[in-house]
Amino acid sequence: MSTDHLKIKIISHPVPERLLDESKNPKPHIHSIERYKELYQESIANPTEFWGKHANEFLHWDKPFENVLSGGFEHGDVFWFKGGKLNASYNCVDRHAIKDPNKVAIIYEANEPGQHRSITYGQLFRDVCRFANVLKSHGLKKGDTVAIYMPMVPEAVVAFLACTRLGVIHSVVFAGFSSEALRNRIRDADSRFVITADEGRRGDKTIHIKKIVDAALKECPNVKRVFVFRRTGSEVPFDSSRDLWWHEEIEKQRPYCPPEIMDSEDPLFLLYTSGSTGKPKGILHTVAGYLLGTAVTFKYVFDYHEGDVYGCMADIGWITGHSYIVYGPLINGATTVLFESTPIYPTPSRYWETVEKHKITQFYTAPTAIRLLRKYGREYVDGRDLSSLRVIGSVGEPIQPEAWDWYNEVVGRNECAVIDTYWQTETGSIIVTPFPGATVTKPGSATLPSFGIDLAILDPITGKELEETEVEGVLAIRQPWPSMARTIYNDHGLYLKTYFQHYKNYYFTGDSVGRDADGYYWIRGRVDDVINVSGHRLSTAEIEAALIIHPSVAEAAVIGIHDDITGQSVHAFATLKQLQESVDVKELSLQVSKGIGSFASPRKIYIVKDLPKTRSGKIMRRILRKIVSGESDQLGDLSTLSDPSSIPILIETVKNS
Ligand code: ATP
Ligand code: MG
Repeated sequence: MSTDHLKIKIISHPVPERLLDESKNPKPHIHSIERYKELYQESIANPTEFWGKHANEFLHWDKPFENVLSGGFEHGDVFWFKGGKLNASYNCVDRHAIKDPNKVAIIYEANEPGQHRSITYGQLFRDVCRFANVLKSHGLKKGDTVAIYMPMVPEAVVAFLACTRLGVIHSVVFAGFSSEALRNRIRDADSRFVITADEGRRGDKTIHIKKIVDAALKECPNVKRVFVFRRTGSEVPFDSSRDLWWHEEIEKQRPYCPPEIMDSEDPLFLLYTSGSTGKPKGILHTVAGYLLGTAVTFKYVFDYHEGDVYGCMADIGWITGHSYIVYGPLINGATTVLFESTPIYPTPSRYWETVEKHKITQFYTAPTAIRLLRKYGREYVDGRDLSSLRVIGSVGEPIQPEAWDWYNEVVGRNECAVIDTYWQTETGSIIVTPFPGATVTKPGSATLPSFGIDLAILDPITGKELEETEVEGVLAIRQPWPSMARTIYNDHGLYLKTYFQHYKNYYFTGDSVGRDADGYYWIRGRVDDVINVSGHRLSTAEIEAALIIHPSVAEAAVIGIHDDITGQSVHAFATLKQLQESVDVKELSLQVSKGIGSFASPRKIYIVKDLPKTRSGKIMRRILRKIVSGESDQLGDLSTLSDPSSIPILIETVKNS
């Protein structure tokens, strides 16, 4: 199949000089590409030694492990650090509270500007112990599952860590999901308790969290207790035979709870994937490998140094929040920002005011937020003092070069390392990424594999590994890594089928990818979304990137639709920037012909108000495909769709075009 068109004209960016100036900044941990290569080689050639060493450096073990790695992909029985014993909350909190109790662990930036508070490691330790004692006093024990449905408040982190202190498996559900989505997750995970709040505040909206929980629990007979944290103080329904107030319960408990010492491979938590491509999968992560993977990547990928203030804007309900708001930063004893609001509340300057106020050094967000802020324009960024920033990151979707450039110039002032980090709920931690002090970056490429990640590109049809440097195919991984998912909860068969049976002896990511002459990786989009026009494999990411170069376009999504002659044809959806009423779609087509080639030019372009997205902000192309194919009555699992009211409008727009 031809891939000649995939030659990208991209400008490379060297490591910003400022980062390497030791009079201004700490020397990066990975300070040159040679150092990266050396460590990477070591991690692949001798994973046992590499991870064994790091496991002793990053984690406190109550009992040392005897064996670094056993098992493999075939049966999905990968086992890291056999014989070792440890506790997650001890590793995240106690160690740091003992050493430096006054160090700030969490900066809570509340929804309303001006309302923020800091929680020290000492205080976090006491809070976690108290709440763990609450859970224990109500009979929770190691191996039970608890659902956490909480807004972005520090008590949510306390809830995570209190569970892990007891060896209780947390199953966090983003507090924006409907009662039905919550109910399905509670039932699927067989959660015994729910930890929640009265209400949440996000922007100018109130989220009626407790009411949603009550509705969800109508069909969850196994849930015996609901702990309610008072966030807004509004009157909410309260069933005193089942519900308990957080503040009343913790009053009863002493601030020490001994940690339950866990085996390396005991479950740590369950988390459902975003549901971009279908029904969400209940991913299970285990204690030691997950903690190690997030700890090591947090330190090296964000180049974390003592004294930094790290801010990830994701929600704790997603894997990004788990790995890079909670576990990765806390294992490293870092100060992590918990941001409750939205990028545009009360104005589109909110992120940058937050960076300025807390002197954030590493900032991490998603392409959907970057595109949104780009749409409002740079005047909301200019004038803010962002000089504390050294590293700015992106995760969740391919980032269009146009959006990358904007992030780099407007937010990073060409002085920050821009890190496009590629990973999945299943990988637990970042797997393809630049390293701030080492990697030359190219907008739109996640660049190079992280330590211990042995990437391969396979021919999608034959499954054969494509060994040349410059190839296009599907992205797979050859060897186990510590933070990989261990199973899909209650469905190990589906786990094997989804990740290990498509291509024998490989972990299959489900994403398509290209590798350029420098060995850099370019995520092209989901395998399910790849478009094939007259034998040309077209990447959704690439066509979308070409469309958003047009000055009027804010976002774009493309899909392939069956065509009797060419196999498939390209259909595109675009939203427009602020104040743009309309656009000449011929110009958009031209943009694609110019950037890629006329064969990639969309057959049809629909200008719409909104694109369908998951609640974590990812474009759901499968819905667009169904609508254009006239199958609007079979849209599939919509539980993770962010705004269901956008669907009838989309259907109407497509019908009338
Ligand atoms: P589901 O598996 O339920 O369909 P999902 O794949 O969106 O949902 P996540 O685990 O949240 O669930 O997302 C992982 C996916 O996000 C990756 O497989 C990839 O498609 C996309 N992704 C994440 N980061 C990047 C990135 N930096 N560049 C390109 N794609 C990315
Ligand atoms: Mg996925």
